[in-house]
Amino acid sequence: ELGSYDVLIVGAGQAGVQTAMSLRQGGFSGSIAIVDAENELPYERPPLSKAYLRGDAEVGEFRFRSADYWAKNSIDLISGTTVESVDVEAHEVLTGMGLRIGYSHLVWAAGGRARRLTVPGADLSGVFSLRNHADAERLRGSLAGARNAVIIGGGYIGLEAAAALVQRAVSVTVIEVQERLLARVTCAAVSDFYSDLHRASGTTVLLSSGVEQILGERGHVVGVQLSDGQILPADLVIVGVGLIPNVEPLAAAGVVCTNGVEVDGDCRTSVAHIFAVGDCANYKSPFAGGMRVRLESVPNAVEHGKAVASAILSTPNEGMTPPWFWSHQFDTRLQTVGLQAGHDEAILRGEPGQSKFSIVYLRGGRVIALDCINSIADFAQGKLLVAQGTPATAEELADTSIQLKSLATKVP
Ligand code: FAD
Repeated sequence: ELGSYDVLIVGAGQAGVQTAMSLRQGGFSGSIAIVDAENELPYERPPLSKAYLRGDAEVGEFRFRSADYWAKNSIDLISGTTVESVDVEAHEVLTGMGLRIGYSHLVWAAGGRARRLTVPGADLSGVFSLRNHADAERLRGSLAGARNAVIIGGGYIGLEAAAALVQRAVSVTVIEVQERLLARVTCAAVSDFYSDLHRASGTTVLLSSGVEQILGERGHVVGVQLSDGQILPADLVIVGVGLIPNVEPLAAAGVVCTNGVEVDGDCRTSVAHIFAVGDCANYKSPFAGGMRVRLESVPNAVEHGKAVASAILSTPNEGMTPPWFWSHQFDTRLQTVGLQAGHDEAILRGEPGQSKFSIVYLRGGRVIALDCINSIADFAQGKLLVAQGTPATAEELADTSIQLKSLATKVP
């Protein structure tokens, strides 16, 4: 009913918007539309768990582009409707509002949704997840008058939310089922640094703790009961236990999906003319020894958007650069580069006690990743070491009088 587009993008998040912008920057003159379930101008997600939640920024300050950009660049935004099915033979999608939209190239950029808890009480009012503007708005709206918050899940989003709530004078308990925070993504030294940081701010951090149920009265949360029986009072609960990639319409259409949509280095799926990008896409990464990874980060979404634009424009793909990521909690700035999974050595560089240090991860004597805390120079220079897979010794990496970039010049 809406006709057909040369490029139809599903999802106006980081990856979908980057695809459209890179196409236009690259001189693409065909028609482009982005269809999105949310009914608003596209915005960045990282501030939602940081400045927005603290009340220091409004969503209007972190839109990707101003309202007039889209029309000026002939990018149609079709907002407030969800793509529910894809017909790969007819080259069209069908949305929940009954719109039928055709495509020559389809770019699936649907991100993911917050994983929900299955315990009793998980759907009480006052239980929040934090994935989009609407979630963040509801959560922020509930902070006035809130005294006790329980955050279930000690990952980056949960910890950023914890920091924001403490700064709004809410008393916070973080519950983590693993024996340390951020266990999936970093080493013990960084996990310990973050539990110390949050405890020093007055937050209670409970490790190796499971949730039995969320307790409510008259439909609203009043507490959380842990597996050991302990009951924590709570006016609000934030569940930050991961993301489920939004792939169902694509999978139903026969596109190969495992943990997300499987794509190649150009983000092409198993079906011709269909690409997938960002949080919902998994691909073989040279920075993971050729294994498939599905990353949830802004730089990853940006790289994918650019790769698809190159593929459609038939211009050279810039190629994969080491993945990176950042997180801000209080005054602490973490930057990571590379993928630390599978490391066999983790070298400490600097002083955790002074809140300024890096961990350099090695596999087989070569640098594969860094976590840099308030260490911007290490991050900037470490990127090069990860890109090169530079061989280095524990002694030289631990020595802060040696700049990391000086190691990169070594011939492997
Ligand atoms: P998304 O940005 O999630 O966009 C997907 C879009 O698709 C959404 O707008 C959704 O409404 C829409 N959609 C879904 N299904 C459909 C459908 N069937 N039909 C139509 N539309 C659909 N990354 C960092 O690197 N650093 C950070 O500090 C950081 N902080 C974050 C904080 C928060 C609170 C969150 C939620 C994420 C954060 N991230 C951070 C991760 C980063 O925002 C994501 O990796 C990035 O947004 C992924 O982009 P995407 O386009 O793949 O998905």
